[in-house]
Amino acid sequence: MTERSESDSRKLLRRLRDSLALPGKGQDRLDRITHLIADSMRTEVCSIYLFRDEDTLELCATEGLKKEAVHQTRMKVGEGLVGRVARSAAPINTADAPSEKGFRYMPETGEEIYSSFLGVPIQRVGEKLGVLVVQSKTARLYSEDEVYALEVVAMVLAEMTELGAFLGEGDGPGALHRRPRLFRGGIAQEGSAEGHVWLHEPRVVVTNPVADDPLTEIERIRDAVGQLRVSIDDLLRAESLDKDQRQVLEAYRMFANSRGWLRRMEEDIARGLSAEAAVEKEQSAARARLQQVEDAYLRERLNDLDDLSNRLLRILTGQGQDTGAQMPEDPILIARNIGPAELLEYGKKLRGVVLEEGSVGSHAAIVARALAIPLVIHAERIVAEALNGDHILVDGDQGFVHLRPDEMVVRSFRDKMAMQAKAQERYAVLRHLPAQSKCGTVTRLNMNAGLMADLPSIESSGAEGVGLFRTELQFLIRNQMPKRDELARLYARVIEAAKGRPVAFRTLDIGSDKVLPYMKPQDEPNPAMGWRAIRVGLDKPGVLQMQAQALIRAAAGRPLQVMFPFITELSEFTAARDCVLRQRDREAAMGHAVPSDLSIGAMLETPSLAYAPKAFFDLADFVSIGGNDLKQFFFAADRENERVRRRYDTLNASFLRFLRLITDRCRDSGTALSFCGEDAGRPLEALVFAAIGISTLSMRPASIGPVKAVLRQVNLAEAREVVFAAMAQGVETVRPAVMDWLATQTD
Ligand code: PEP
Ligand code: MG
Repeated sequence: MTERSESDSRKLLRRLRDSLALPGKGQDRLDRITHLIADSMRTEVCSIYLFRDEDTLELCATEGLKKEAVHQTRMKVGEGLVGRVARSAAPINTADAPSEKGFRYMPETGEEIYSSFLGVPIQRVGEKLGVLVVQSKTARLYSEDEVYALEVVAMVLAEMTELGAFLGEGDGPGALHRRPRLFRGGIAQEGSAEGHVWLHEPRVVVTNPVADDPLTEIERIRDAVGQLRVSIDDLLRAESLDKDQRQVLEAYRMFANSRGWLRRMEEDIARGLSAEAAVEKEQSAARARLQQVEDAYLRERLNDLDDLSNRLLRILTGQGQDTGAQMPEDPILIARNIGPAELLEYGKKLRGVVLEEGSVGSHAAIVARALAIPLVIHAERIVAEALNGDHILVDGDQGFVHLRPDEMVVRSFRDKMAMQAKAQERYAVLRHLPAQSKCGTVTRLNMNAGLMADLPSIESSGAEGVGLFRTELQFLIRNQMPKRDELARLYARVIEAAKGRPVAFRTLDIGSDKVLPYMKPQDEPNPAMGWRAIRVGLDKPGVLQMQAQALIRAAAGRPLQVMFPFITELSEFTAARDCVLRQRDREAAMGHAVPSDLSIGAMLETPSLAYAPKAFFDLADFVSIGGNDLKQFFFAADRENERVRRRYDTLNASFLRFLRLITDRCRDSGTALSFCGEDAGRPLEALVFAAIGISTLSMRPASIGPVKAVLRQVNLAEAREVVFAAMAQGVETVRPAVMDWLATQTD
């Protein structure tokens, strides 16, 4: 880089900044900028093309082309040289534009007389906003420094766009963030919500793209990169990292220590950018490069680099997570991903959550479910699209997210919400009534829980008890293993909140997708079928013993129900049961009050247990079918794999035959039976389960109303006949037969 060109680009940037600082309408500013660039670069033409919609560019300002063409000339992405720059997000520099591949002659602009052409993308952190072009009559290639200078100017333009410097121009820059957008994601927690966007990791706002004193800026960037390296090394020293986390941090370290990265940013600063703008320029360039890449691994690295740049920007701006923005009254959280502890911290004030990643069985999903907040996952690119405060509708029933919705969408969405609210009112009336069907059969409806936040629902939902208390949530949301006394206090609060209603505490179910941050991660090829749940409990009995003690102390002379997850054979059950009984005897010997009635049961989550020796059913005080796991093993369909998750119907006749086998075995041994997987909360499924003889169902609190309403409306004995008749006919699923019958059952 020559001294002259360096000062030229610095001069240009300074002029640009001064010009942007002047008051004026968006169009005046754009006009001034094109004039200024053409003048500084000694070219006859300078034009700004901006995206009008996702694939159309519009000439928005020009110096040198015909003024009448402004806001008239448009082109598609990929069309003409400008369209090619937009598509590839890379500059085109040619001395002979008309003979260049893809050149399109646009008579209205009068550009045919210009031979040389240089176009660079206007983009911000990978988001394409438009194209900046200079042209001149003399046939010449623009120098590397000129290309560079124009890129830097384009970047500042993009930055100013983000700050709204050109707002008020109709479909001008910034419009991308004002258009309605629909995202189709995956359903992780049903329900609908209307609110305003709250970004979990707000974008860092760079207000000073141009800087006067490069030496100070270089010092700032070196210092910030130094801090960044130290913070990554600190993170890497943490012992509890699993393989994936370590891999990501290693990648961070590699980028943070890369000389090229820092050198390029320093060069940008030398040419007039502020340290922040230099980071963003690199971030944009890397994104543009990597976005062309199909390879999943490299794309992951793109995300890593992005995170890293954001961290660096936070250090530089001192903005941290707190950008000073006010959380809206009705926040809908938008994030790439979020951990259960962070989600819990927001708690019930959130109206909804939308994630770019996540999975149905993730901890965040479990917490969202416990908090009864609608959650949509896999909403691609929403983090880049959404701005804090944007109006947003989350349809968790269909997995749709409407960002900045138009009036019509809002109206129909509100209608739907109103209908749902009306239905809730109807259910509230049923709260204190039993789920008694017309033939007199009563089904017991319990709720599933796992957090203290769940407990108020026990009153409002009308649940008759807690059929499944997932104790692992208390372990998952902490950074270290909870202590026995702490757990005992918590379990006691749960028992008290239940006011005499039974609570079935399930001992720790970790492994599979539930990984404790403070336990050494296992690198297993298939964790759902790996070292999980009671298998861990029996191999490392310390935690199981501690939990049993905590539960016994919490019960303090009151009845206690304990159940073990993922029991596959009789001997596992006896071993776990013996462990709890030993703790009871130990507590008694120490003089602590023991439960007045201790019932010990098992979750039936693997087909093998249904065929266990009779001794198992005789010994177990109760059995609870964990349908989520049972179904995944019955159909060999991963419950977390969106592709296969819904492939097999719960009302499939084979599965129902299998459930009948379980009901028969429990009935023969006089063992209490319940169903506590997600399917118990779906009215049609619940009806069929009850009809085939599962007399206790445990579900999310919000499902109790709808399930009760259906059960009270029908004759279960008749429903049973319908189910069995359909099965006898050899159907694959009884769903259509039950639905047809149900349609005839209205009051
Ligand atoms: C189940 O598997 O159905 C169940 C209730 O347990 P979890 O969803 O916690 O695995
Ligand atoms: Mg399970």
